[in-house]
Amino acid sequence: MENCIFCQIVNGSIPASKIYEDEHVLAFLDITQVTKGHTLVIPKKHVRNVLEMDSQTAQELFSHIPEISRALLKATQANGLNIINNNEEIAGQTVFHAHIHLLPRFDEKDGLDIQFTTNQPDFDALNTLSETIKKEILS
Ligand code: AMP
Ligand code: ZN
Repeated sequence: MENCIFCQIVNGSIPASKIYEDEHVLAFLDITQVTKGHTLVIPKKHVRNVLEMDSQTAQELFSHIPEISRALLKATQANGLNIINNNEEIAGQTVFHAHIHLLPRFDEKDGLDIQFTTNQPDFDALNTLSETIKKEILS
């Protein structure tokens, strides 16, 4: 896609610090480096995000995540890793070519702060919601 910055990285018209490449997948360092080693893994084929991804592309993309993650941890001597994927603007997506963020973690002040708000579980609501979602998967 002409105006897509990640397609331009794939076709070599703009530079990137690449760390893995094969026929279908490319991984390169994020220019922002939220934590040291912050990496983006993308399908070479232009697809907007996970919501528009077919299973074949997902398989090719996600199958490389464990191997690249292990390499990142070794290379940066990190203690852990967060995997983040933003889909659509409300979820923080700013580049509309699918990408998975791999974020090596070092300590609580390493640049990334993720907090889940916790509340008391409502089991009836959970069961109702799970039934609704199940129907969508089966349809
Ligand atoms: P998101 O907000 O999930 O869409 O993430 C987009 C990411 O792409 C951000 O973390 C940016 O720092 C990163 N990014 C944007 N342009 C480039 C580029 N030319 N090379 C590497 N990373 C980039
Ligand atoms: Zn693209």
